[in-house]
Amino acid sequence: MLSLSRFPFLISLFVVFMAGMGLQGQDSAGQNAPKSKPHVVVVGVNGMEWDIIRPLLMRGELPNLASVIKRGVYGKLRTVPAPNCPKVYSTIATSTPPEQNGVTGFIVGGITANTNMLKEEPLWSVLSKHGVTVGMANVPATFPVMPVNGYMVSGMLTRGKGCEDGVLCSPKLSEVQGGDAVYPKSMVSEIEKNVGDISIDCARMPSADDLKGHETQLINEWLDNVQRIRAQQTKLFDYLLTNHPTDYTMMVQSCEDRVGHWLYPIQPHNVGYNPKISSVKLDAFPNQYREFDKVLGTILKHVDDNTYLFILSDHGIKPLREFEEDPHMHMDHGGTTPVIAKHDFADGDDVPGSFIAMGPDIKHDVRLMGFQATVFDVAPTILRLYGISAPGQMKGRVLTEIFENRKTEQAAGNGQN
Ligand SMILES: [Zn+2]
Repeated sequence: MLSLSRFPFLISLFVVFMAGMGLQGQDSAGQNAPKSKPHVVVVGVNGMEWDIIRPLLMRGELPNLASVIKRGVYGKLRTVPAPNCPKVYSTIATSTPPEQNGVTGFIVGGITANTNMLKEEPLWSVLSKHGVTVGMANVPATFPVMPVNGYMVSGMLTRGKGCEDGVLCSPKLSEVQGGDAVYPKSMVSEIEKNVGDISIDCARMPSADDLKGHETQLINEWLDNVQRIRAQQTKLFDYLLTNHPTDYTMMVQSCEDRVGHWLYPIQPHNVGYNPKISSVKLDAFPNQYREFDKVLGTILKHVDDNTYLFILSDHGIKPLREFEEDPHMHMDHGGTTPVIAKHDFADGDDVPGSFIAMGPDIKHDVRLMGFQATVFDVAPTILRLYGISAPGQMKGRVLTEIFENRKTEQAAGNGQN
């Protein structure tokens, strides 16, 4: 385990070393690795809910997602108990439980979760150390950004003007405070010039007081803002993939989850049903996936037959259920939003995430039944694609069953370093 303060320092030193010595083509054991490294793109969708996307897939309304599923492996992704974004994304990054990696929720010890709390080495650091170029955009709980062998633009939990605690609000790039949202710093002006003064996270949800008497107007305005943020984010992803291609790229969307929390299409029998809100835009939440599918279409322009594509969600989201403490409580500004759906149920299996993978030696049209894949398995599986053995503290396993047999054996051979 590395100490917190030295950790970014070690990465930057190593990256400089790698660049200086021209060792990009070798792995840590000094053995010759293939000259061009695998191209891996990971797309995260916060709270992608199979209950909503399955019927949309059947109706043919998610053509890009359907094409990936047909060409790859798909299924549920077992998440952690009481899942939320910072907790699960840090688990995905480190392949260790929240209690071990230090990021146990939105707020840890009274402080908003941040990268300085990470007690275990994340995937982006392991990859950087092995000379893999890394690009990350809007991944939750990556603020302040850490040095990588590439670039990093932070995501959910970035602090800024009007968003001092950084929790579920949306500071603009120019408003960021209390740390860097972009590494290297020189990319701030480049993004402002070529993409715009982007919102780092999705919009904050309105409070019950704000909504009262203005429900329809506020819902429509808020959804317009969500769409504006998504358009910016799509432009950012497209710009980065075009102008800063990296071996490993991870990009995350968070508006889907945000919309689901208070505009999930619930029925009169559900807890929290209020026709003044629930009947205004029944399609608001499904529309998030229709729009996500277009974002995926933009990303797919950068995905060729030799690219590994992973589409992941940290958890699903379901209408309120179970007699658990604070059923309406969700981390927003004071817990005042009329939340009708959530994901931090004690049993994480109630709200499984999603796992969809496609790539040159990944099986086609295969459905993973039950909970074969877990959030712990993502990092070891990605490391194996680069021939890197998972560090000892990682709890997950390589998902060998998603690969065609012959290539898997080869990959296993490469990984013995
Ligand atoms: Zn959420």
